[in-house]
Amino acid sequence: MSLQLPKDVQSFIDDHARRTPPERRNIYVCDICKGHVITRDRDYGVTPFMIGCKATAGCEGHMRSSMYRVFDQSVAAEFEWYRPDTLDGLSDGEATHVKMGGLLLRRISHG
Ligand SMILES: [Zn+2]
Repeated sequence: MSLQLPKDVQSFIDDHARRTPPERRNIYVCDICKGHVITRDRDYGVTPFMIGCKATAGCEGHMRSSMYRVFDQSVAAEFEWYRPDTLDGLSDGEATHVKMGGLLLRRISHG
């Protein structure tokens, strides 16, 4: 059972899905520690241009999107963008983001 999105948001996402390869990779680079993380899109939707640093524990930098310009799209990803099945447990900000077609980020657990 997937989350019910407003009709206009869903049609935007469906259109985006037709034009976009699955599992698309992106790289985010931190402006302070210069660390980076590789993400993949598990679902289709909107991902932010900037996120808090995920590369270095305690780093207060911001990571900027490489706008999906990743040459080797088979590269392993450590994080994935996903659409939750429910808004339960999300903060107000997260819930608003998801209702507008936004995806959430989580670390991929291997094995
Ligand atoms: Zn950092």
